[in-house]
Amino acid sequence: MTAYWCEHAWLGDGAVAGVRVVEDDGRIVSVEAITDPAPGDARLPGLTLPGFANAHSHAFHRALRGRTHDRGGTFWTWRERMYAVAARLDPDSYLALARATYAEMALAGVTCVGEFHYLHHPPGGGRYDDPNAMSEALIQAAADAGVRLTVLDACYLAGGLDGSGHLPLDDVQLRFSDGDADGWAARVAGLPGRDGLRIGAAVHSVRAVPAGQLPAIVRAADGRPLHAHVSEQPAENEVSLAFYGMTPTRLLNDHGALAPGSTVVHGTHLTPQDVAALGGTGTSVCACPSTEADLADGIGPFRRLRDAGSPLCVGSDQHAMTDLLVEARMLETSERLETGERGRFRPAELVDALTVDGHRALGWPEAGRIAVGQRADLVAVHMDSPRTAGCAPDQLVMAAGAADVHTVVGDGRIVVSDGQHVLGDVGRLLSAAIEPLWEDA
Ligand SMILES: [Zn+2]
Repeated sequence: MTAYWCEHAWLGDGAVAGVRVVEDDGRIVSVEAITDPAPGDARLPGLTLPGFANAHSHAFHRALRGRTHDRGGTFWTWRERMYAVAARLDPDSYLALARATYAEMALAGVTCVGEFHYLHHPPGGGRYDDPNAMSEALIQAAADAGVRLTVLDACYLAGGLDGSGHLPLDDVQLRFSDGDADGWAARVAGLPGRDGLRIGAAVHSVRAVPAGQLPAIVRAADGRPLHAHVSEQPAENEVSLAFYGMTPTRLLNDHGALAPGSTVVHGTHLTPQDVAALGGTGTSVCACPSTEADLADGIGPFRRLRDAGSPLCVGSDQHAMTDLLVEARMLETSERLETGERGRFRPAELVDALTVDGHRALGWPEAGRIAVGQRADLVAVHMDSPRTAGCAPDQLVMAAGAADVHTVVGDGRIVVSDGQHVLGDVGRLLSAAIEPLWEDA
């Protein structure tokens, strides 16, 4: 049992001064307003928020940071670089990279990550002795880094889509595929959930999964989180309209893939009918604003989606940066640029995206709030750093960043203390994992 005295804590929809939070065995057992700490209380200066959920991650994309800007290019040329890295990873190098990537997330306040995972098999196809060896590497990595994990195991079957149908997998993509949705479902069934781990499902995209395979995926997901990349680029809409005569959102809806347990990732280029379908089914939308900016995707209709009924969450996706506070803030700043209006989202709505709604999208309804019975996830943020000094606590989400996070508690365990991760020098871990992937590249 540990008692934390928070100078300010985020309770419900705002900051409260002087709050004592007691955890026992990873759960919050008491929350009370109290002006001064009791002897023996661990003091958390600044503002303590619930743990952050990073609802969309591809851990291996972290190896691409600062490596794709030299020749200009497009989303599609970025993807060629990404495939070059994908072709080099094995379970050992994937473990090292994911462990360091998740540790960097923890430093930024992330206590739970949704890993949209499609790097399943050896290069060229085939199977590892354990067909889930790459998933097991992610699971070990998250446990080592002190971050809870939802494996969003992605079905990936085709090499793309054009007006005449789906294309064969190319040499790199062969390792993503289980052959068909039944083969995918059988492999995923061999990956049981365990403490700190939940298993969800994903449709990589309508480009990579033919519509006829969707019902089997929805059946296998069976109410667990089901995520899909949707309409990140206009080209995806164009090929979907050319081949199916409908948008990706409509296609997913017609096959039962939209529901309150489902999450659409990006949703950047949506028609008004798409927005209505997502909101009407209660489907969550995961915005990845730093990735959408980095890849020149565009700005999604975040406010319209929220108003239509879609809960919003955020993800660092390709990890062009790992700063979930900034991702949440970009929901609002992108809207300002798009509409010429300020205050499209209240700060409390941004905190909800970062915490409770992100956890819900990843299948952890018992996390994301500082309240009795919830998982003991606490993120303490300095309010006296050069970036945050002078801010009102209720508006800190509009100013603070990852560098201001000083203490992170996940499931009652201290993962980050005084800005240091329990694994030590995370920059060194990242360098050691990434540099070998680019040797002779
Ligand atoms: Zn993605």
